[in-house]
Amino acid sequence: MSVEATEAKTLEQVLNYIRPAVRAQRPYHVGTAPNVEVKLNQNESPLDLPEDLKRDLLEQFFYTPFNRYPTEQPDRLRHALAESLDHDPDGILVGNGSNELTYTLGLTMIDKGTPVVLPKPMFALYTTMVKLYEGDLVAIPPRPDLSFDAEAILEAVRRTQPDLVVLTTPNNPTGLAMPLSEIVPIVEAAPGFVVVDEAYVEFTEEESARTVLDDYPNLLLLRTFSKAFGLAGVRLGYLMGHPAVMQELLKARLPFMVDRMAEMTALALLQRPQLLRERIALIKQECQALTTALATMEGVEVVPSQSNFVLFKTSLETKPLLNRLATSGVLVRDMSGYPELQGYLRVNAGTPDENKAFLVALKKTLET
Ligand code: PMP
Repeated sequence: MSVEATEAKTLEQVLNYIRPAVRAQRPYHVGTAPNVEVKLNQNESPLDLPEDLKRDLLEQFFYTPFNRYPTEQPDRLRHALAESLDHDPDGILVGNGSNELTYTLGLTMIDKGTPVVLPKPMFALYTTMVKLYEGDLVAIPPRPDLSFDAEAILEAVRRTQPDLVVLTTPNNPTGLAMPLSEIVPIVEAAPGFVVVDEAYVEFTEEESARTVLDDYPNLLLLRTFSKAFGLAGVRLGYLMGHPAVMQELLKARLPFMVDRMAEMTALALLQRPQLLRERIALIKQECQALTTALATMEGVEVVPSQSNFVLFKTSLETKPLLNRLATSGVLVRDMSGYPELQGYLRVNAGTPDENKAFLVALKKTLET
């Protein structure tokens, strides 16, 4: 190709070679304000790893060869998870965050026009993923209380015979959990796979779909280290399911997605179940306290949460409210991007001091 020909291309001509399904998307952008003191907008754990654990890990990292690839899959972590979850290690796939595994699910299961059932409102990444793979999205509106409409999902499953159904429980952004008694009939009716995203499972009283996982080869569970484990910055999640299904997913996915340091960090944390239990108890308690405090504020509507965050609505518009909270050093999330959640904000449980700062700032804003 001549130099002239190369130079003659306009940027628009080049961009036209990008798949339309990709060009139609907007980049994922949380938009964290810099220097905010109280950050409650991403459903993270407010608790970093204890200092002694971090120092142990740094020592281990020092003796780790940075120049060598890790194993294709993080086998030590897979086996440690298998033991703690009482599941076949070959039925566990560890990813670079659970979001990475969501894309692997799409790559493995969705062709152009493949029907996929997703209830609404749901963590937006699932919609993005289905659109990127050009699946045929069947979106199911919620009940009036914002819970997933199990009967409508079941009806859509029978009608559209989807290759994939995704359920998130407890759900983000509502915080509501789906009882197992509503999940099982969907798994039984679905001709294809049902993925249950249990990112927030540690915070709910509802029974996990883990209890029926071995009964259904079309059922997959997705979990993360980003929430209860407090490792959002390390990027680890995992899928559980039938080993033969995992074998197929492995064919689609990149090797070496989990680095040595992330694996060591998770292994160290799995060896401290007591620490984890204490932290989960604290976060649940703080989330409950937040819910109660919000519910007693005049003009505030609260969705009862089974998770580490609370969805709520006030009489004010979300954008000015968000800005005024940010001015007070508190960051929460505007949920108005979801058509079902106009006027709603989401706040995750922080430390007792952070929650207090949020409540004081909110009260002040609502009163003036
Ligand atoms: N699933 C749901 C429903 C979530 O809300 C989140 C966090 N936003 C994740 C998964 C977490 O993804 P990751 O494991 O990639 O941090």
